[in-house]
Amino acid sequence: SARSAGEPRWRRYDAALHAQVIDEMQLRTELSRALADDAFRLNYQPIVEMDSGRTVGFEALLRWPHPTRGMVSPAVFVPLAEESGLIVELGAWVLHTAVHEAASWARLVPGVAPYVSVNVSVRQFLTPGFVARVHDELASSGLPAERLTLEITESLLLGDQDQIQADITRLRAGGIKVSIDDFGTGYSSLSYLHRVPVDTLKLDKSFVDTITTSARQHDLVRGILRMAATLSLSVVAEGIETEDEHRMLAAAGCAFGQGFLFARPLTDVDARARVAAPASDGRVS
Ligand code: C2E
Ligand code: MG
Ligand code: MG
Ligand code: MG
Repeated sequence: SARSAGEPRWRRYDAALHAQVIDEMQLRTELSRALADDAFRLNYQPIVEMDSGRTVGFEALLRWPHPTRGMVSPAVFVPLAEESGLIVELGAWVLHTAVHEAASWARLVPGVAPYVSVNVSVRQFLTPGFVARVHDELASSGLPAERLTLEITESLLLGDQDQIQADITRLRAGGIKVSIDDFGTGYSSLSYLHRVPVDTLKLDKSFVDTITTSARQHDLVRGILRMAATLSLSVVAEGIETEDEHRMLAAAGCAFGQGFLFARPLTDVDARARVAAPASDGRVS
């Protein structure tokens, strides 16, 4: 309008910023109500063995079906929940739900059931009692520790080194696996890899996206895979969307992958169906 065109630029910016702040406040309020109302859901995205297409695990991914906003992305609300501290309670809900769900998969198959991989935010990890809570969930669900992976981020490893290292060591001593999520995008001082022992690197999608078009990225990924092999770390490539990406990663020695090429995140019901009938995976290469 003529009026807003005549306003100083800072004031228009201020109004937009104000609207955004109000919206975030609203979302925050709704977030805590959603937790009380049991409105969150988990989806489970298959993690597959590259060679066989076999589903070896599932990553639990938070979903918030919102009455008016539609499906709100965790990329939007997880950071808000981190800020407000709600992530501690929300993360506890995720852990409880995912662990009990995974425990039920074992009853569907005779052999080794798929593992579940749970994202843990920095603030959640640093909450006193976190490690004990993980062990409690395993005990109450009956899920073998080996079938739980916790995904942490590189940024966690910048914190109070001794405490974090001790917690990770305690988790792994109990058989739980620890993976570094979005590997390669963080502060990636690779030095933490020898200080903090982990099991798995989740190679960030940004590497996967560029591997087919950039020779340098291809070399870099091959270097990461060699380093991982040397350190006995397994690697899961994230966000594989094309056959070319799949082929090149497999050829470079990446054993596991996750992405829309194999499967989208599934509802708990669909994930259970896939566990029960792995032959219907559709992808046996
Ligand atoms: P993330 O842990 O790196 O999860 C992988 C994300 O990539 C998921 O997004 C997944 O749906 C998406 N993805 C998987 N395959 C493909 C693909 O082939 N193409 C594309 N374009 N995307 C793919 P989502 O579910 O939206 O989650 C976003 C992020 O939110 C997660 O990234 C994670 O950092 C966070 N998040 C999700 N659930 C939780 C949770 O329970 N706790 C915490 N703390 N964070 C969570
Ligand atoms: Mg993750
Ligand atoms: Mg990831
Ligand atoms: Mg990622």
